Amino acid sequence: MALVSAKEMLEKAHEGHYAVGQFNINNLEWTKAILQAAQETNSPVILGVSEGAGKYMCGYKTVADMVKAMIDYLGITVPVALHLDHGTFEGAKACIEAGFSSVMFDGSHYPFEENVEKSKEIIALAHSKGISVECEVGAIGGEEDGVIGGGEVADPKECAAVAELGVDFLAAGIGNIHGKYPANWKGLNFDVLAEIQASTKGLPLVLHGGSGIPTDMIKKAISLGVSKINVNTECQLVFADATRKYIEAGKDLEGKGFDPRKLLAPGTAAIKELVIEKIKEFGSDNKA
Ligand SMILES: [Zn+2]
Repeated sequence: MALVSAKEMLEKAHEGHYAVGQFNINNLEWTKAILQAAQETNSPVILGVSEGAGKYMCGYKTVADMVKAMIDYLGITVPVALHLDHGTFEGAKACIEAGFSSVMFDGSHYPFEENVEKSKEIIALAHSKGISVECEVGAIGGEEDGVIGGGEVADPKECAAVAELGVDFLAAGIGNIHGKYPANWKGLNFDVLAEIQASTKGLPLVLHGGSGIPTDMIKKAISLGVSKINVNTECQLVFADATRKYIEAGKDLEGKGFDPRKLLAPGTAAIKELVIEKIKEFGSDNKA
């Protein structure tokens, strides 16, 4: 199956009260594990690519061509969107050209008016090619910003203004943060989430920093309009953990255990297992 825009899968998720996972990819093993997990659970899936990961994988065209060829080779039949994560204005344009089926333009660090103008331009360009667009209002905190207690919350009025531009789904801070959640995290702000959903009139919302949010909060967020949940850190943690265990057990020193296909196998399997677990938690299994 060819890559699809994320618009339809997220509208269906919103109507059906479940969420589709965005799992970020970093290399071939990551991509394979996530595609196989989605296929085995009969779930739609969004492959997220940060600009850094795009550079690491030798450019957006390399990524798009690899993903398309892999879908074909593995016989993947579930809907797959290839999505730029936290794109710059130039990055979003480059991904639209390179064959991505979805892009995020993150203009949350610009003054609001400039975010609106730039979002409008990306939406027009992407929609002319059938590509879906995610925009962001109100920065989402993270360790890199030195946020310790909790994330930021978006202004529902600003969310409404961006929704009116025709964006397909919207990321808005509701106390979520990127990376590992600190022990004193205050949790998601459901009052703000409900206000944002009301002000955006049922637009599918995106929860960034989905790694480590307790299941009851995930379920409540979905019930209040979250239709896309981004998972990145957790895949990295399980991959690193499984790889470390393999090496600490000395398996790379036994026979041909140093073969990269053997060395990377436990980490790849761990990602697949985690993605299957998340798909079931988000309720997108058997929704392909
Ligand atoms: Zn994010």
